[in-house]
Amino acid sequence: MKYQSTRGEAPILEFGDVLLAGLAVDGGLYMPSELPEIGQADLRAFANLPYTEVATRVLAPFVAPSIDEDSLGRMVEEAYATFRHPDVVPITELPSEGVNDHHIVELHWGPTFSFKDVALQLLGRLFEHELERRATSVTVVGATSGDTGSAAIEACRDREGIELVMLHPRGRISEVQRRQMTTVASSNIHNVSIDGTFDDCQDLVKAMFADSSFRQQRRLAAVNSINWARVAAQTVYYFTTGTQLGGGERQTSFCVPTGNFGNILAGYIAAQMGLPVDRLIIASNHNDILTRTHLSGLMEMEQVIPSTSPAMDIQVSSNFERLLFDLSDREAAWLRTAMQDFRANGQLPLSEALITRLRNIFDADRASELEVEETIADVHSATGQFIDPHTAVAVSVARRLEAGSSPIAIMSTAHPAKFGDVVQDATGVAPAQPEEIKDLYGRTESCTDLPNELNAIMEFVSSATNA
Ligand SMILES: *Cc1c(COP(=O)(O)O)cnc(C)c1O
Repeated sequence: MKYQSTRGEAPILEFGDVLLAGLAVDGGLYMPSELPEIGQADLRAFANLPYTEVATRVLAPFVAPSIDEDSLGRMVEEAYATFRHPDVVPITELPSEGVNDHHIVELHWGPTFSFKDVALQLLGRLFEHELERRATSVTVVGATSGDTGSAAIEACRDREGIELVMLHPRGRISEVQRRQMTTVASSNIHNVSIDGTFDDCQDLVKAMFADSSFRQQRRLAAVNSINWARVAAQTVYYFTTGTQLGGGERQTSFCVPTGNFGNILAGYIAAQMGLPVDRLIIASNHNDILTRTHLSGLMEMEQVIPSTSPAMDIQVSSNFERLLFDLSDREAAWLRTAMQDFRANGQLPLSEALITRLRNIFDADRASELEVEETIADVHSATGQFIDPHTAVAVSVARRLEAGSSPIAIMSTAHPAKFGDVVQDATGVAPAQPEEIKDLYGRTESCTDLPNELNAIMEFVSSATNA
Protein backbone atom coordinates (compact mmCIF):
# COMPACT_ATOMS: atom_id res chain seq x y z
CA MET A 1 0.00 0.00 0.00
CA LYS A 2 1.12 3.53 -0.84
CA TYR A 3 0.28 6.74 0.99
CA GLN A 4 -0.13 10.23 -0.44
CA SER A 5 -0.49 13.67 1.17
CA THR A 6 -3.82 15.53 1.14
CA ARG A 7 -1.91 18.55 -0.20
CA GLY A 8 -0.20 16.68 -3.03
CA GLU A 9 3.33 18.01 -2.64
CA ALA A 10 4.96 15.43 -0.40
CA PRO A 11 6.63 12.18 -1.42
CA ILE A 12 4.52 9.03 -1.76
CA LEU A 13 5.44 6.74 1.14
CA GLU A 14 4.92 3.29 2.57
CA PHE A 15 3.36 2.57 5.95
CA GLY A 16 6.61 2.50 7.98
CA ASP A 17 7.55 5.98 6.75
CA VAL A 18 4.05 7.36 7.27
CA LEU A 19 4.01 5.95 10.78
CA LEU A 20 7.18 7.81 11.71
CA ALA A 21 6.48 10.95 9.65
CA GLY A 22 3.07 11.89 11.08
CA LEU A 23 2.39 15.15 9.24
CA ALA A 24 3.44 15.25 5.57
CA VAL A 25 6.23 17.72 4.67
CA ASP A 26 3.78 19.87 2.66
CA GLY A 27 1.63 20.37 5.77
CA GLY A 28 -0.92 17.81 4.60
CA LEU A 29 -2.03 14.52 6.10
CA TYR A 30 -1.24 11.08 4.72
CA MET A 31 -4.03 8.97 3.22
CA PRO A 32 -3.83 5.56 1.54
CA SER A 33 -3.81 5.97 -2.24
CA GLU A 34 -6.47 3.29 -2.38
CA LEU A 35 -8.50 1.69 0.40
CA PRO A 36 -8.57 -2.09 0.84
CA GLU A 37 -11.99 -3.68 0.45
CA ILE A 38 -13.57 -5.98 2.99
CA GLY A 39 -15.94 -8.38 1.24
CA GLN A 40 -19.31 -9.78 2.34
CA ALA A 41 -17.89 -13.11 3.52
CA ASP A 42 -15.32 -11.40 5.74
CA LEU A 43 -17.97 -9.08 7.19
CA ARG A 44 -20.19 -12.02 8.12
CA ALA A 45 -17.20 -13.77 9.71
CA PHE A 46 -16.19 -10.67 11.71
CA ALA A 47 -19.43 -10.81 13.72
CA ASN A 48 -18.12 -13.90 15.54
CA LEU A 49 -14.38 -13.31 15.69
CA PRO A 50 -12.38 -12.01 18.65
CA TYR A 51 -11.43 -8.34 18.48
CA THR A 52 -7.75 -9.08 17.93
CA GLU A 53 -8.43 -11.27 14.93
CA VAL A 54 -10.63 -8.68 13.25
CA ALA A 55 -7.93 -6.10 13.99
CA THR A 56 -5.20 -8.15 12.36
CA ARG A 57 -7.31 -8.83 9.27
CA VAL A 58 -8.47 -5.23 8.85
CA LEU A 59 -5.04 -3.71 9.48
CA ALA A 60 -2.79 -6.12 7.56
CA PRO A 61 -3.26 -4.41 4.16
CA PHE A 62 -2.63 -0.96 5.70
CA VAL A 63 0.75 -1.92 7.18
CA ALA A 64 2.03 -4.01 4.25
CA PRO A 65 4.69 -4.23 2.97
CA SER A 66 6.49 -2.51 5.88
CA ILE A 67 5.17 -4.94 8.51
CA ASP A 68 4.30 -8.60 7.93
CA GLU A 69 1.04 -10.09 9.18
CA ASP A 70 2.65 -12.28 11.88
CA SER A 71 4.46 -9.37 13.50
CA LEU A 72 1.28 -7.30 13.27
CA GLY A 73 -0.74 -10.08 14.88
CA ARG A 74 1.70 -10.34 17.76
CA MET A 75 1.60 -6.58 18.39
CA VAL A 76 -2.19 -6.55 18.20
CA GLU A 77 -2.39 -9.36 20.81
CA GLU A 78 -0.03 -7.53 23.14
CA ALA A 79 -1.75 -4.18 22.71
CA TYR A 80 -5.24 -5.43 23.52
CA ALA A 81 -4.09 -7.71 26.34
CA THR A 82 -3.68 -4.45 28.31
CA PHE A 83 -7.46 -3.88 28.19
CA ARG A 84 -9.56 -4.64 31.27
CA HIS A 85 -12.43 -6.25 29.38
CA PRO A 86 -12.20 -9.61 27.59
CA ASP A 87 -14.18 -8.26 24.61
CA VAL A 88 -11.74 -5.28 24.37
CA VAL A 89 -14.60 -3.08 23.06
CA PRO A 90 -17.84 -4.39 24.62
CA ILE A 91 -21.32 -3.24 23.56
CA THR A 92 -24.19 -2.64 25.99
CA GLU A 93 -27.86 -1.72 25.49
CA LEU A 94 -29.23 1.70 26.29
CA PRO A 95 -33.02 1.97 26.73
CA SER A 96 -34.13 4.42 24.05
CA GLU A 97 -37.83 5.11 24.53
CA GLY A 98 -39.00 3.30 21.45
CA VAL A 99 -36.98 5.27 18.88
CA ASN A 100 -34.13 3.36 17.20
CA ASP A 101 -32.25 0.73 19.17
CA HIS A 102 -29.47 2.48 21.01
CA HIS A 103 -26.26 0.69 21.95
CA ILE A 104 -23.28 1.97 23.89
CA VAL A 105 -19.90 1.01 22.49
CA GLU A 106 -17.48 1.06 25.41
CA LEU A 107 -14.15 2.24 24.05
CA HIS A 108 -12.68 3.04 27.46
CA TRP A 109 -11.35 -0.22 28.90
CA GLY A 110 -7.68 0.52 28.12
CA PRO A 111 -4.94 1.53 30.57
CA THR A 112 -5.90 5.25 30.74
CA PHE A 113 -9.70 4.87 30.54
CA SER A 114 -10.29 6.68 27.24
CA PHE A 115 -10.79 5.55 23.65
CA LYS A 116 -7.34 6.91 22.78
CA ASP A 117 -5.83 3.72 24.21
CA VAL A 118 -7.40 1.64 21.42
CA ALA A 119 -5.13 3.22 18.83
CA LEU A 120 -2.18 4.24 20.97
CA GLN A 121 -1.51 0.90 22.66
CA LEU A 122 -0.95 -0.46 19.18
CA LEU A 123 0.88 2.62 17.92
CA GLY A 124 3.53 2.44 20.69
CA ARG A 125 4.31 -1.11 19.66
CA LEU A 126 4.36 -0.30 15.94
CA PHE A 127 6.81 2.54 16.64
CA GLU A 128 9.16 0.35 18.64
CA HIS A 129 9.05 -2.36 15.98
CA GLU A 130 9.80 0.05 13.15
CA LEU A 131 12.55 1.86 15.08
CA GLU A 132 14.27 -1.37 15.93
CA ARG A 133 14.10 -2.49 12.30
CA ARG A 134 15.73 0.79 11.22
CA ALA A 135 18.09 0.97 14.20
CA THR A 136 17.12 4.56 14.87
CA SER A 137 15.31 6.72 17.42
CA VAL A 138 12.62 9.44 17.39
CA THR A 139 11.31 12.32 19.43
CA VAL A 140 7.56 12.08 19.62
CA VAL A 141 5.93 15.48 20.13
CA GLY A 142 2.23 15.72 20.79
CA ALA A 143 -0.52 18.04 21.94
CA THR A 144 -3.34 16.91 24.15
CA SER A 145 -6.72 18.24 25.20
CA GLY A 146 -6.57 15.68 27.96
CA ASP A 147 -6.78 12.06 26.90
CA THR A 148 -4.24 11.67 24.09
CA GLY A 149 -1.47 12.70 26.45
CA SER A 150 -1.91 10.01 29.04
CA ALA A 151 -2.70 7.35 26.43
CA ALA A 152 0.45 8.26 24.47
CA ILE A 153 2.56 8.35 27.60
CA GLU A 154 1.27 4.93 28.70
CA ALA A 155 1.95 3.60 25.18
CA CYS A 156 5.50 5.00 24.91
CA ARG A 157 6.88 4.95 28.46
CA ASP A 158 10.20 3.13 28.72
CA ARG A 159 10.11 2.06 25.06
CA GLU A 160 13.47 1.82 23.29
CA GLY A 161 14.29 4.61 20.86
CA ILE A 162 11.48 6.98 21.91
CA GLU A 163 11.60 10.32 23.75
CA LEU A 164 8.14 11.81 24.25
CA VAL A 165 7.33 15.52 24.75
CA MET A 166 3.64 16.16 25.47
CA LEU A 167 2.08 19.65 25.50
CA HIS A 168 -1.18 20.37 27.32
CA PRO A 169 -3.12 23.62 27.86
CA ARG A 170 -2.51 24.71 31.46
CA GLY A 171 -5.58 24.52 33.68
CA ARG A 172 -7.82 23.29 30.86
CA ILE A 173 -7.68 19.57 31.52
CA SER A 174 -9.09 17.70 34.51
CA GLU A 175 -6.98 16.91 37.55
CA VAL A 176 -7.20 13.18 36.84
CA GLN A 177 -6.08 13.75 33.26
CA ARG A 178 -3.15 15.91 34.40
CA ARG A 179 -2.06 13.47 37.08
CA GLN A 180 -2.30 10.53 34.67
CA MET A 181 0.42 12.27 32.64
CA THR A 182 2.56 14.07 35.20
CA THR A 183 2.92 11.20 37.68
CA VAL A 184 4.52 8.82 35.18
CA ALA A 185 8.11 8.61 36.34
CA SER A 186 9.90 7.44 33.19
CA SER A 187 13.02 9.19 31.97
CA ASN A 188 11.78 9.26 28.34
CA ILE A 189 8.56 11.15 29.24
CA HIS A 190 8.53 15.00 29.30
CA ASN A 191 5.35 16.91 30.20
CA VAL A 192 4.92 20.59 29.26
CA SER A 193 2.01 22.84 30.21
CA ILE A 194 1.36 25.74 27.83
CA ASP A 195 -0.22 29.06 28.69
CA GLY A 196 -2.94 28.73 26.00
CA THR A 197 -5.68 26.54 24.55
CA PHE A 198 -5.51 23.07 23.00
CA ASP A 199 -5.55 24.65 19.54
CA ASP A 200 -2.45 26.67 20.55
CA CYS A 201 -0.73 23.45 21.62
CA GLN A 202 -1.69 21.76 18.36
CA ASP A 203 -0.42 24.76 16.37
CA LEU A 204 2.92 24.61 18.18
CA VAL A 205 3.29 20.94 17.29
CA LYS A 206 2.38 21.65 13.67
CA ALA A 207 4.87 24.53 13.55
CA MET A 208 7.68 22.28 14.80
CA PHE A 209 6.83 19.78 12.08
CA ALA A 210 6.73 22.57 9.49
CA ASP A 211 10.33 23.56 10.34
CA SER A 212 12.03 20.95 8.20
CA SER A 213 15.55 21.33 9.57
CA PHE A 214 14.34 21.07 13.16
CA ARG A 215 12.12 18.18 12.23
CA GLN A 216 14.96 16.27 10.63
CA GLN A 217 17.53 17.11 13.24
CA ARG A 218 15.29 15.98 16.10
CA ARG A 219 13.70 13.15 14.07
CA LEU A 220 10.22 14.29 15.12
CA ALA A 221 7.36 11.81 15.11
CA ALA A 222 3.69 12.31 15.91
CA VAL A 223 1.11 10.45 17.94
CA ASN A 224 -1.74 12.92 17.39
CA SER A 225 -4.59 11.74 15.23
CA ILE A 226 -2.75 13.33 12.30
CA ASN A 227 -0.93 9.97 12.36
CA TRP A 228 -2.69 7.69 9.89
CA ALA A 229 -1.93 4.59 11.97
CA ARG A 230 -4.33 5.89 14.63
CA VAL A 231 -7.18 6.33 12.19
CA ALA A 232 -6.52 2.85 10.79
CA ALA A 233 -6.50 1.27 14.27
CA GLN A 234 -9.82 2.97 15.03
CA THR A 235 -11.56 1.53 11.97
CA VAL A 236 -11.43 -1.87 13.71
CA TYR A 237 -14.13 -1.18 16.32
CA TYR A 238 -16.46 0.11 13.60
CA PHE A 239 -16.10 -3.30 11.96
CA THR A 240 -16.59 -5.28 15.19
CA THR A 241 -19.56 -3.13 16.28
CA GLY A 242 -21.23 -2.89 12.88
CA THR A 243 -20.95 -6.61 12.22
CA GLN A 244 -22.10 -7.57 15.73
CA LEU A 245 -25.16 -5.33 15.47
CA GLY A 246 -25.94 -5.93 11.80
CA GLY A 247 -24.49 -9.38 11.10
CA GLY A 248 -22.38 -7.91 8.29
CA GLU A 249 -25.45 -7.21 6.14
CA ARG A 250 -27.73 -4.72 7.84
CA GLN A 251 -26.66 -1.09 8.21
CA THR A 252 -25.64 0.52 11.48
CA SER A 253 -25.53 4.22 12.36
CA PHE A 254 -22.78 5.59 14.58
CA CYS A 255 -23.08 8.61 16.85
CA VAL A 256 -19.66 9.93 17.82
CA PRO A 257 -18.60 12.62 20.31
CA THR A 258 -16.31 14.58 18.04
CA GLY A 259 -13.30 16.84 18.58
CA ASN A 260 -10.43 16.41 16.15
CA PHE A 261 -12.56 14.24 13.84
CA GLY A 262 -10.23 11.23 14.16
CA ASN A 263 -12.77 8.82 15.64
CA ILE A 264 -15.63 9.50 13.25
CA LEU A 265 -13.26 9.67 10.26
CA ALA A 266 -12.37 6.04 11.03
CA GLY A 267 -16.09 5.27 10.70
CA TYR A 268 -16.15 6.95 7.31
CA ILE A 269 -13.11 4.93 6.21
CA ALA A 270 -14.73 1.69 7.43
CA ALA A 271 -17.81 2.57 5.35
CA GLN A 272 -15.61 3.22 2.29
CA MET A 273 -14.00 -0.18 2.84
CA GLY A 274 -17.35 -1.93 2.68
CA LEU A 275 -18.94 -1.83 6.14
CA PRO A 276 -22.70 -1.23 5.78
CA VAL A 277 -23.15 2.19 7.44
CA ASP A 278 -26.38 4.20 7.45
CA ARG A 279 -25.58 7.53 9.13
CA LEU A 280 -22.44 8.89 10.75
CA ILE A 281 -23.55 11.42 13.35
CA ILE A 282 -21.14 14.13 14.43
CA ALA A 283 -21.99 15.07 18.01
CA SER A 284 -20.38 18.28 19.28
CA ASN A 285 -20.53 20.27 22.51
CA HIS A 286 -20.90 24.07 22.34
CA ASN A 287 -17.61 24.21 20.40
CA ASP A 288 -19.57 23.24 17.36
CA ILE A 289 -17.61 24.27 14.25
CA LEU A 290 -18.40 20.98 12.48
CA THR A 291 -22.10 21.10 13.30
CA ARG A 292 -22.27 24.69 11.99
CA THR A 293 -20.33 23.71 8.87
CA HIS A 294 -22.71 20.82 8.22
CA LEU A 295 -25.70 23.13 8.56
CA SER A 296 -24.46 26.20 6.65
CA GLY A 297 -21.71 24.98 4.31
CA LEU A 298 -19.37 27.60 5.75
CA MET A 299 -16.53 26.39 7.95
CA GLU A 300 -15.85 29.25 10.33
CA MET A 301 -13.52 29.40 13.34
CA GLU A 302 -14.70 30.83 16.65
CA GLN A 303 -13.23 31.16 20.12
CA VAL A 304 -12.94 27.94 22.08
CA ILE A 305 -15.16 28.00 25.17
CA PRO A 306 -14.19 25.49 27.88
CA SER A 307 -16.78 22.78 28.57
CA THR A 308 -17.28 19.70 30.73
CA SER A 309 -16.19 17.57 27.74
CA PRO A 310 -12.71 19.09 27.24
CA ALA A 311 -11.51 16.51 24.69
CA MET A 312 -13.99 18.13 22.32
CA ASP A 313 -13.04 21.77 23.04
CA ILE A 314 -11.56 22.26 19.59
CA GLN A 315 -12.16 24.65 16.72
CA VAL A 316 -9.82 23.28 14.10
CA SER A 317 -10.52 19.57 13.61
CA SER A 318 -7.34 18.36 11.88
CA ASN A 319 -8.78 15.18 10.43
CA PHE A 320 -11.59 17.00 8.69
CA GLU A 321 -8.95 17.74 6.04
CA ARG A 322 -8.82 14.03 5.24
CA LEU A 323 -12.57 13.96 4.72
CA LEU A 324 -12.46 17.08 2.51
CA PHE A 325 -9.74 15.40 0.46
CA ASP A 326 -11.87 12.34 -0.13
CA LEU A 327 -15.14 14.21 -0.70
CA SER A 328 -13.48 16.51 -3.25
CA ASP A 329 -12.31 13.47 -5.24
CA ARG A 330 -8.80 14.00 -3.92
CA GLU A 331 -8.27 17.48 -5.31
CA ALA A 332 -5.00 18.14 -3.52
CA ALA A 333 -4.34 21.45 -5.30
CA TRP A 334 -7.73 22.86 -4.27
CA LEU A 335 -7.31 21.62 -0.70
CA ARG A 336 -3.85 23.13 -0.36
CA THR A 337 -5.15 26.64 -1.09
CA ALA A 338 -8.37 26.06 0.80
CA MET A 339 -6.56 25.11 4.00
CA GLN A 340 -4.16 28.05 3.65
CA ASP A 341 -7.12 30.42 3.21
CA PHE A 342 -8.86 28.91 6.20
CA ARG A 343 -5.74 29.44 8.30
CA ALA A 344 -5.43 33.04 7.14
CA ASN A 345 -9.11 34.09 7.25
CA GLY A 346 -10.70 31.68 9.68
CA GLN A 347 -13.31 30.91 7.03
CA LEU A 348 -13.77 28.33 4.33
CA PRO A 349 -16.92 28.18 2.21
CA LEU A 350 -17.57 24.66 0.89
CA SER A 351 -19.08 24.12 -2.55
CA GLU A 352 -22.67 22.97 -2.89
CA ALA A 353 -21.46 19.69 -4.42
CA LEU A 354 -19.13 19.01 -1.53
CA ILE A 355 -21.65 19.84 1.18
CA THR A 356 -24.21 17.60 -0.51
CA ARG A 357 -21.77 14.72 -0.44
CA LEU A 358 -21.03 15.43 3.21
CA ARG A 359 -24.74 15.37 4.09
CA ASN A 360 -25.24 12.12 2.16
CA ILE A 361 -23.62 10.21 4.97
CA PHE A 362 -23.08 12.61 7.90
CA ASP A 363 -25.55 14.20 10.27
CA ALA A 364 -24.45 16.69 12.90
CA ASP A 365 -25.85 18.24 16.04
CA ARG A 366 -24.67 19.84 19.27
CA ALA A 367 -25.49 19.35 22.95
CA SER A 368 -25.45 22.24 25.43
CA GLU A 369 -23.87 21.95 28.87
CA LEU A 370 -27.35 21.71 30.39
CA GLU A 371 -28.30 18.88 28.03
CA VAL A 372 -25.11 17.02 28.93
CA GLU A 373 -25.89 17.31 32.63
CA GLU A 374 -29.51 16.23 32.14
CA THR A 375 -28.47 13.28 29.99
CA ILE A 376 -25.97 12.00 32.56
CA ALA A 377 -28.65 12.28 35.25
CA ASP A 378 -31.34 10.71 33.12
CA VAL A 379 -29.26 7.70 32.04
CA HIS A 380 -28.26 7.16 35.64
CA SER A 381 -31.79 7.28 37.03
CA ALA A 382 -33.17 5.10 34.22
CA THR A 383 -30.46 2.43 34.18
CA GLY A 384 -28.16 2.94 37.17
CA GLN A 385 -25.35 3.36 34.61
CA PHE A 386 -22.86 6.23 34.76
CA ILE A 387 -21.77 7.86 31.51
CA ASP A 388 -19.02 10.45 31.15
CA PRO A 389 -19.74 13.93 29.72
CA HIS A 390 -18.29 13.14 26.25
CA THR A 391 -20.48 10.08 25.93
CA ALA A 392 -23.41 12.18 27.20
CA VAL A 393 -22.97 14.63 24.31
CA ALA A 394 -23.47 11.74 21.90
CA VAL A 395 -26.38 10.20 23.82
CA SER A 396 -28.12 13.57 23.93
CA VAL A 397 -27.67 14.06 20.18
CA ALA A 398 -28.74 10.47 19.37
CA ARG A 399 -31.93 10.85 21.39
CA ARG A 400 -32.94 13.91 19.44
CA LEU A 401 -32.62 12.22 16.04
CA GLU A 402 -35.68 11.35 14.05
CA ALA A 403 -36.61 7.69 14.14
CA GLY A 404 -34.88 5.55 11.52
CA SER A 405 -34.58 1.86 10.91
CA SER A 406 -30.91 1.26 11.75
CA PRO A 407 -29.57 0.57 15.22
CA ILE A 408 -27.48 3.44 16.58
CA ALA A 409 -24.09 2.68 18.07
CA ILE A 410 -23.15 5.47 20.46
CA MET A 411 -19.43 5.72 21.03
CA SER A 412 -18.55 5.94 24.73
CA THR A 413 -15.13 7.54 24.66
CA ALA A 414 -14.23 7.84 28.35
CA HIS A 415 -14.78 6.00 31.61
CA PRO A 416 -17.10 8.02 33.90
CA ALA A 417 -14.55 7.98 36.76
CA LYS A 418 -12.21 10.02 34.60
CA PHE A 419 -14.72 12.88 34.85
CA GLY A 420 -16.04 11.96 38.30
CA ASP A 421 -16.77 15.56 39.41
CA VAL A 422 -19.03 16.28 36.44
CA VAL A 423 -20.80 12.95 36.84
CA GLN A 424 -21.29 13.56 40.56
CA ASP A 425 -22.64 17.10 39.99
CA ALA A 426 -25.19 15.69 37.53
CA THR A 427 -26.31 12.60 39.45
CA GLY A 428 -25.57 13.44 43.08
CA VAL A 429 -23.56 10.22 43.25
CA ALA A 430 -19.83 9.77 42.77
CA PRO A 431 -18.97 6.97 40.33
CA ALA A 432 -16.69 4.31 41.85
CA GLN A 433 -13.05 5.08 41.18
CA PRO A 434 -10.84 2.31 39.81
CA GLU A 435 -7.71 1.68 41.93
CA GLU A 436 -5.47 3.04 39.16
CA ILE A 437 -7.20 6.43 39.40
CA LYS A 438 -7.29 6.56 43.22
CA ASP A 439 -3.56 5.88 43.28
CA LEU A 440 -2.80 9.01 41.25
CA TYR A 441 -3.45 11.39 44.15
CA GLY A 442 -0.56 10.17 46.25
CA ARG A 443 2.11 10.46 43.54
CA THR A 444 4.59 13.22 42.75
CA GLU A 445 3.94 15.30 39.62
CA SER A 446 6.56 16.38 37.12
CA CYS A 447 5.84 19.06 34.49
CA THR A 448 7.48 22.14 32.93
CA ASP A 449 5.44 25.36 32.48
CA LEU A 450 6.19 27.21 29.23
CA PRO A 451 4.71 30.25 27.44
CA ASN A 452 2.82 29.89 24.16
CA GLU A 453 6.00 30.60 22.15
CA LEU A 454 7.50 28.36 19.50
CA ASN A 455 11.12 29.18 20.39
CA ALA A 456 10.70 28.25 24.02
CA ILE A 457 9.14 24.92 23.10
CA MET A 458 11.80 24.11 20.52
CA GLU A 459 14.54 24.85 23.02
CA PHE A 460 12.84 22.56 25.52
CA VAL A 461 12.50 19.75 22.98
CA SER A 462 16.18 20.07 22.08
CA SER A 463 17.38 19.97 25.67
CA ALA A 464 15.02 17.16 26.68
CA THR A 465 16.18 14.97 23.83
CA ASN A 466 19.88 15.73 24.31
CA ALA A 467 19.85 14.51 27.88
C1 LIG B 1 -10.25 12.49 21.99
C2 LIG B 1 -11.59 12.34 22.57
C3 LIG B 1 -12.74 12.69 21.86
C4 LIG B 1 -12.70 13.29 20.47
O1 LIG B 1 -12.23 12.38 19.52
P1 LIG B 1 -11.71 12.90 18.09
O2 LIG B 1 -11.11 11.74 17.45
O3 LIG B 1 -10.71 13.97 18.41
O4 LIG B 1 -12.90 13.44 17.39
C5 LIG B 1 -13.96 12.47 22.47
N1 LIG B 1 -14.05 11.98 23.72
C6 LIG B 1 -12.96 11.66 24.44
C7 LIG B 1 -13.13 11.16 25.84
C8 LIG B 1 -11.71 11.82 23.89
O5 LIG B 1 -10.62 11.50 24.61
